[in-house]
Amino acid sequence: MSAYIEDLDAALIAKAVKEGSISALEVAQASLDAIDKRDPQIHAFIQVTPELALKAAQDIDNARAQGKELPPLAGVPIAFKDNMHLIGSRTTCASHMLENYESVFTATAVQRMLDAGCVPVGKLNMDEFAFGSSTESSYFGHTCNPYDIERVPGGSSGGSAAAVASGMVPLTLGSDTGGSIRQPASFCGVVGFKPTYGMVSRYGIVAFGSSLDQVGPFGRSVHDVALAMNALAGRDERDCTSQPWNIDFTADLNSGVEGMKIGIVSSLNNAEGVEAEVVDAINKAAQNLTAAGAELVEVELPHAAAAIAAYYVLAPCEAFSNLARFDGVRYGHRPNDARDLADMTSRARAEGFGPEVKRRIMLGAHLLASGVYDKYYYPAQQVRALITEDYKKAYEQVDAILMPTSPHTAFKFGELSNPTQMYLSDMFTISLNIAGNAGISVPVGFGSASGLPIGAQLIGPAFQDHKLLRIAASLEASYEATQCAPGFTKKGGLLS
Ligand code: GLN
Repeated sequence: MSAYIEDLDAALIAKAVKEGSISALEVAQASLDAIDKRDPQIHAFIQVTPELALKAAQDIDNARAQGKELPPLAGVPIAFKDNMHLIGSRTTCASHMLENYESVFTATAVQRMLDAGCVPVGKLNMDEFAFGSSTESSYFGHTCNPYDIERVPGGSSGGSAAAVASGMVPLTLGSDTGGSIRQPASFCGVVGFKPTYGMVSRYGIVAFGSSLDQVGPFGRSVHDVALAMNALAGRDERDCTSQPWNIDFTADLNSGVEGMKIGIVSSLNNAEGVEAEVVDAINKAAQNLTAAGAELVEVELPHAAAAIAAYYVLAPCEAFSNLARFDGVRYGHRPNDARDLADMTSRARAEGFGPEVKRRIMLGAHLLASGVYDKYYYPAQQVRALITEDYKKAYEQVDAILMPTSPHTAFKFGELSNPTQMYLSDMFTISLNIAGNAGISVPVGFGSASGLPIGAQLIGPAFQDHKLLRIAASLEASYEATQCAPGFTKKGGLLS
């Protein structure tokens, strides 16, 4: 079978490997070649893991030769955001603090993808410790958007989105605490899914905001993302928030949206700062869903405007306690000429963390101080309850809600240099993490003015993820199939 790696999605690769029309080794080699040729321009990878990839691929080919039944994603190259532990790789969180940290165990989500037959080709760039929306804060330098290398890929899982969009791998994992899967997916023209909180184990993912973090897949189709969810979802004894779950997410993916109700929040969609081409693309997506048989219903999310403020209290507080472990004693960078313990710890942190990480830690430390806590943390929790309630009420009327993923398309490096501007750009993604619901970004074409990819976000009630994927598949079907970015087609990674 002769094809470029970017022309094959995960479903096609697994099918071809099972049938024997390509070997897992050939696919792994094609993906590694594509990384060699394309990544110098994109810089999606922090580490490439050819030994792990070739060994896993060889194991699959051996199993096939022995007549064993192959797992569902046999031979599919995959790469992981670099906040996910994988034995045999470093897990740096794109930070100087963990620059040389070798994983001593494998995250459950990562292990489940490997058990499903995926072949690990590397670890992906991100904002340092997942704080950010552009991947510009990585200690290892930024990742470029494959649609315009002068622009950001989004973040914090920018490497995960860019690696798929440039055709180096068909499938990646990212994590989403306030939009970090959906927003980069939107900027890079790929599908990115944040499951309901509790759907996927967080064990082995370096924690940012433990009540908000969730792992999810990136792919070029909703079907590929659903296949990944089949592997990822379910209870893990090592994460007490994970829920038992065992359904086939692909089962009714093509059943359409006839008779379903899709919510529209007009006040949000037309809010200040939302670019006209984004509004147009979302209106078009709404029409397409109507044409497929859904009914549009106006809904209200009255407390949505408070989501960013609440998040920037809750998330830094959780980050502050989660990052306390990086003290140069147990983990992380350690200055070798420290005078005493206090000097060592403070210098480990001063030298090891970048500016955005320090900003979040200081914010969290302040917000949790006695006398301050009652003024901010407590009200933020109350806002959290109100937002959760808003969504519950909305879902009494509709099956899902449609809105933009981001108010704008990918911006240029340095363009949002003021942190507050960057924080405000998460206006459509954050409330979902606060409520714990599921959300997906689906490519809905390109901006009429910018020519850059636009993502539509569909969000749905907790633990109805399979239904959300079905609605997303119906929306996706009204557009041309997602390809890799035009500058990266047929640029290496050939299967012969
Ligand atoms: N952009 C948001 C932040 O910086 C969300 C990040 C994320 O989801 N990891 O906090």
